[in-house]
This record gives sequence, C-alpha cells and structure tokens, in this order.
Amino acid sequence: MIRFEEAYALVLSRVVTIQKPERVLLLESLHRVLAEDIVSDINMPPFRKSAVDGFACRMSDLRMPLKIVETIAAGSLPTMQVEPGTCAKIMTGAPIPLGADCVLPVEDTRLADDLYVEFTGMEAKKNICELGEDIRIGDVSINKGIIIGPQHIAIMAALGYHQPLVATQPRVGILPTGDELVEPNIKPLGGQIRNSNGYQLVAQTKAAGALPSYYGIVSDSKDATYEVLAKAIAENEVVTLTGGVSMGDYDYVPEIMEKLGVTIHFSSVAVQPGKPTTFGTLDNKLVFGLPGNPVSAFIQFELLVKPAIRKLMGCKQLNPTAIRLPLAEDYRRNRAERMALVPVKIIAGSAVLPVEFHGSAHIFALGNADGIIAVPIGTTKIDKGEIVDVRPL
Ligand code: AMP
Ligand code: MG
Repeated sequence: MIRFEEAYALVLSRVVTIQKPERVLLLESLHRVLAEDIVSDINMPPFRKSAVDGFACRMSDLRMPLKIVETIAAGSLPTMQVEPGTCAKIMTGAPIPLGADCVLPVEDTRLADDLYVEFTGMEAKKNICELGEDIRIGDVSINKGIIIGPQHIAIMAALGYHQPLVATQPRVGILPTGDELVEPNIKPLGGQIRNSNGYQLVAQTKAAGALPSYYGIVSDSKDATYEVLAKAIAENEVVTLTGGVSMGDYDYVPEIMEKLGVTIHFSSVAVQPGKPTTFGTLDNKLVFGLPGNPVSAFIQFELLVKPAIRKLMGCKQLNPTAIRLPLAEDYRRNRAERMALVPVKIIAGSAVLPVEFHGSAHIFALGNADGIIAVPIGTTKIDKGEIVDVRPL
C-alpha cells in the first residue's frame, strides 16, 4: 500500500502530454485547454475615447458657459478642435476631439440655451480612456494552458482569435465491470444493482475536458475483460475500469491488465475510500482500475484521473483551487492509517460541514456535497473552527 502523494506523483510521472494541438472555431473552444498564447494585434482602446455621455471640453474653462460646436457619435470622428470657451457634445466610446482634456458627464451639466452648456458638478473628472490603456500591441493577454471560459472567449474575440489553437482532447475508455450490473433503464431484480459508475465516469470525463467512450457493462469473466480491455487500450489514451480490483473470487482486472502487458505501478493506496485503486501503463497509455464502490470511484477519478487528463492536455492547473474554511463541527475518527476523503457541504460560504456519509457505497451522500476535505494519515480529530482546505467538486 502506498501513500496518496506517492500514487499521485507516480501517475503524473507517467503522463506524456499530447503534442497535437488543433484549431477550432472560437465558440467551440469553450472549456478546452488553450494551446497558444493570446497576443494583442491592437491597442485597446485604439484611440482616446470618452468614458461617458457628455461634453468634451477644457478643464480650465469650467466656470463659464461653453458653446457646443458639434456632436460626436460613437463610430464617427470629430471634425473640429475644441477651442477655449467651446465644447463638443460626445457619446460614450466616441473619439475625443483635439483640444479637449476632459468630458463633463451629462448628469453634471445644464443647458443654458440650445447652444451653451454649464457645468453643475462639484469637481470635474477626466472621463477619458487613453489610447492603449487596457492593452498594447504585442502584450500577452492570456497564457496557454488555461481552461477556456466565457471571459477568455470575449478576450479572444476582441483580439481577433476566431480560430484559437486548443489541446487535443484525450480519449477515455470507460468500462464498468460486474455481473450484478444492469443499465439505468432496467429495474434491478434479485442480486442486481444499477450501473451508476459508467455514467458517472462518462460525466466526470466530459467535465475534465476529455472525450469519453463508453464500452458497456463488462461481465466478470476473464475472457470478456481481456477482450474489451484490449480494445479500449488500443482505442484510447486513458482507460478507466470500475470494479473487479478487490480480493473477491471474480476480481480479475489486475490479472487481465498484466496479461495484456500493462505494467502495474500500484494496486493499493492508503486512502479511504478508494484503497484498491490500481494504476498501470502500457507504453503511454494510462489504465486506471478504480474500485467498484461508487464514492470510491468518484473520488479517485477526481483525485488521480482528472489531473492526469489535464496534464495530457498541457493544462497548467491540474487541480481545482482549494477553498479554506473553518469546520462547523468536530470531526473524529478512530483509525488513521489511511488518508480520509470526507465529502463536505459549504454552509452559506462561511464554514464547512461533513455530510452524512455511510461509506464508499453511499453515492447519495455526494448529492449534498460541495467538496471534499482530506484528513491526513495519523490525524484522528479536527476541532470545530479549525481551518481546512476544501477541494470543490
Ligand atoms: P467490486 O469492486 O467489483 O467488488 O464492487 C464493489 C461494490 O461496488 C459492489 O457492491 C458492487 O456491486 C458495486 N459496484 C460495482 N460496480 C458498480 C457500478 N458500475 N455501479 C454501481 N455500483 C457498482
Ligand atoms: Mg465486481
């Protein structure tokens, strides 16, 4: 049995980032990993522009009524210079005329008659956005390796990246094993249960930014496991099986992995839940034998498989940023030989509470969980009020 930190380091050490980025249409890049730096080809703003609707004038003229010489709409150019005692009516985003050094907001002015305006505010502000104050030609606005969110789509649109370069999505084969399993559309009969892991893993794979391939329920037979696993290894960069990794009579997964030439790097991790988690490689292919118990499979995918998928894509952030919060009640456990992974709920953003959790089969507990906290080996208690790192789900 190895410690989680060792297992994590081992997995990541076997990941070879896929060096085959592709160009996609801007909107198709959402949630993909950016594979090029986004460099500005323009100055923004591209000209000095007004930040408000109002009157462009000279700051030294504010005590007198100002003659309005023209109106400048957004998208049009000034035709006159602002001379002492004059101003130009100007709209937000329109270019500042020469001679003006401030814009009086409409709200701070009063029309003296059709041709003159007076300042009624207390203190005049500039209200001018200077050329290039937001970004300059050649500035790097986004570094490669981030996961593209809607805000990055806006930046890429502003900078002309209509076909950004993104990382190729790894293919992930998903193989739930177990003779007791039936698909969700079936009412389980004696001895059967519904296959939740298969769907959970497809969803987790998608959420991690990879392409899932679902191979259906694999029966607990050596031949079936051999055949489907061989196919999945050939067709994917990552394969995740669930079930068949414990000590039962029909747990064939590690044996078949080895028979297929997969080198097993570990088959037991000091975590709870998720102890029988098994990991092997065949060339650059990663094979994860996750426990059959749904919570174990869920958490070990989040902790080990997801960072591997992200590294395959050249993503700079392999894990979600932890949120530091105080514990809302005492946490106690009797044994501490393994690192405990405890599903928790965040209470109104200010504290964190372990959810009622009966163990690794209790997938329903995760329905109420916002995150997971890790209780280190050797720690049996965390007192109410102590700060813990919550890994968001
Ligand atoms: P195993 O690791 O194969 O011994 O399975 C451990 C437990 O997880 C057993 O109670 C299984 O019935 C359950 N289990 C295995 N696979 C799945 C699955 N795909 N969906 C839901 N539960 C499962
Ligand atoms: Mg099984």
